[in-house]
Amino acid sequence: MIKLSGRLNGLEESVTLAITAKSRALKAEGRDIIGFGAGEPDFDTPENIKEAAIRAIKEGHTKYTAVSGINELKDAIIEKFQRDNKLKYSRDEVIVSCGGKHSIYNLLQAVLDPGDEVIIPAPYWVSYPAMIILAGGEPRVVHTTEASGFKMSREAFVGHITARTKAVIINSPSNPTGAAYTETELKGLAEEALKKGVLIISDEIYEKLAYDGFRSTSIASVSEEVKQRSVILNGVSKTYSMTGWRIGYAAGPKSIVKAMTNIQSQSTSNPASISQWAAVEAISGPQDMVATMVKEFEKRRNAMVEGLNAIKGVQCLRPQGAFYVFANISGVLGGLVKGHPIKGSVDMANYLLDTAGVAVVPGEPFGDDRFIRLSYATSLKNVTEGLRRIKAAIEGLR
Ligand SMILES: *Cc1c(COP(=O)(O)O)cnc(C)c1O
Repeated sequence: MIKLSGRLNGLEESVTLAITAKSRALKAEGRDIIGFGAGEPDFDTPENIKEAAIRAIKEGHTKYTAVSGINELKDAIIEKFQRDNKLKYSRDEVIVSCGGKHSIYNLLQAVLDPGDEVIIPAPYWVSYPAMIILAGGEPRVVHTTEASGFKMSREAFVGHITARTKAVIINSPSNPTGAAYTETELKGLAEEALKKGVLIISDEIYEKLAYDGFRSTSIASVSEEVKQRSVILNGVSKTYSMTGWRIGYAAGPKSIVKAMTNIQSQSTSNPASISQWAAVEAISGPQDMVATMVKEFEKRRNAMVEGLNAIKGVQCLRPQGAFYVFANISGVLGGLVKGHPIKGSVDMANYLLDTAGVAVVPGEPFGDDRFIRLSYATSLKNVTEGLRRIKAAIEGLR
């Protein structure tokens, strides 16, 4: 056996992908499975974006591009920041990568030294701790509860800052909770970060997927000083249903963007040229598809929240963004199934998949084992039927 790198210490396959694989296998066996596991919109990529990609191929945009992205896309991104966030960036403050995940990975590689701590509010996106560890850093988890709407308070943030704190990752709206920070809350966190010299990493990939009229604020827009201490991450995957195209981007101080570009130049080089041209169309073309998608997501969210809260022992908040709910199942844990207790979220996810034919994601890898994550990136019909099955399975537990 070849010994693997010590850097991989404890690194596991993403559980979200594992449960998707299991439900896919059951489907292939002919089982009728309803999937609440999806981490991507169920809508097709809009036609105008596909056309732009086809045009790019026909026009010969099929070669290496500049490592950090074509100027046309950088300019579209700069324009977007100006339009949506009142933020001014120049080309050398923007880098395009192979997905938002890749942007975060490059960033952490660029700024972390061994022993550096990165504060992450839990529940967190599963990839943050893994990427921090891969970059030699240490995740410092700040637990949040439903009482604070799953948001990290200013006090909790301050309480976790040490001499080794290098950065904080804020993800608003959040995967997995859908929680979204208000401008006032962001201001409070930003002030503390400035005082203590902590780099703000803001993952704004769900910026546009917000409900009840909520409008996301970019933390960098709080002040010029905050902007100088922040790196904003975004991408086209979630907003434009383009997860397979692999285009994400980051904006921040020149020196950090330059370091990220060097890392990218020695690893992946530029993101796919064709996808970059498609992203130009996505970001600067007509935006009405986004509004249509948001309206549909909001209807499904309402059905999901009402349906879950109607199940005895299950509780869930009404999230303001993204396309997930994070449901508290602690009231039904400890129930017996054929003599086996359902001890935590992984048992529950397996139970629901095996007996109800519904795929959900356990909360454990997101930092809280008393919860399950359900995605409503699936039809309203599936939401209704899936909830009916979950109710029957859970209320039959004890
Ligand atoms: C989906 C997601 C991303 C990035 O996805 P990409 O497809 O790599 O652009 C980043 N952060 C969070 C929290 C996500 O859920």
